[in-house]
Amino acid sequence: GPVKDDSVVSGRVRVAVRLRPRNAEELVADADFADCVELQPELKRLKLRKNNWDSDTYEFDEVLTEFASQKRVYEVVAKPVVESVLDGYNGTVMAYGQTGTGKTFTLGRLGEEDTAYRGIMVRSMEDILANISPETDSVSVSYLQLYMETIQDLLDPANDNISIVEDPKTGDVSLPGATLVEVRDQQSFVELLRFGEAHRFAANTKLNTESSRSHAILMVHVKRSIKGRESSILSENGNTSHLVKSFKPSLVRKGKLVVVDLAGSERIDKSGSEGHTLEEAKSINLSLSALGKCINALAENSAHVPVRDSKLTRLLRDSFGGTARTSLVVTIGPSPRHRGETASTIMFGQRAM
Ligand code: ADP
Ligand code: MG
Repeated sequence: GPVKDDSVVSGRVRVAVRLRPRNAEELVADADFADCVELQPELKRLKLRKNNWDSDTYEFDEVLTEFASQKRVYEVVAKPVVESVLDGYNGTVMAYGQTGTGKTFTLGRLGEEDTAYRGIMVRSMEDILANISPETDSVSVSYLQLYMETIQDLLDPANDNISIVEDPKTGDVSLPGATLVEVRDQQSFVELLRFGEAHRFAANTKLNTESSRSHAILMVHVKRSIKGRESSILSENGNTSHLVKSFKPSLVRKGKLVVVDLAGSERIDKSGSEGHTLEEAKSINLSLSALGKCINALAENSAHVPVRDSKLTRLLRDSFGGTARTSLVVTIGPSPRHRGETASTIMFGQRAM
């Protein structure tokens, strides 16, 4: 792989918090109540109200208010990750939060009604396509849903049990069964996303569940040929290395961007649940808590990142640590009614820093 540059890539996870505006219902029903949070974006601080006179203060790498544009959110949350993917590293952008707080708005919005609404997936691809050369480079994508520890192919609905293969030597993760579609232009990418989203809805209707109960995962593989000057390069062939004269493209850079729209983080009342709903709740808790443990380990620069505990973390294994970049956006709503969920989302973000 490419030479590591530790000045560019730190082991830390960048964490942003994003508040969505009050919706129509909250504007009316909670008109007499203050928001449960108060944001101080210049100080990169968020205050979580405890009662009318007291609050707890938290710091984030970035604090995005309800006025933050999609463009700005892309620039602070995803652009640095996309740039390092173009340089041949792996990177992850994830959104975590209660259902209805704006994860899909932030990541998956297509913005066909108004380009200002385009989310991180669409903007990332736009940036990638603008920075590669079509003659020598390629971009291909897979789009998956992870539900109850099963990976489904959103680009091929018949393909509903994809397995993860890990290279024992390199730790690289691959999904040999997943559809990989080469992307040549922005329009065909948006169509792929729309196609995947429609199949996600159909598959979930069949499984009698909601999209918020599964993780949606977009994988973007970027392969670039960096033209070598006329020079000698070290070529690795199996176990042997030797110097060769090079006149042709001498270096292939492969980066992978993974964008994860996580299942809703809200606690499901297990006492009233049984059968399918209970199993679903357990599965979501398992994968989100496994993810939490892995990003805590990353944040603490721990040598051991416990990736084996869930499919989600196994899938993200080669995007964790090392030279890989991770950006997490935690999404929250303003309603005082959801103060408890908002507090737990804030804590998830805090533990990742
Ligand atoms: P989630 O994916 O977390 O369940 P959604 O992205 O579906 O949440 O958002 C829930 C609703 O709130 C949607 O109608 C969405 O358009 C709206 N919304 C979310 N974030 C924002 C925002 N920053 N600005 C305006 N509307 C938003
Ligand atoms: Mg959603």
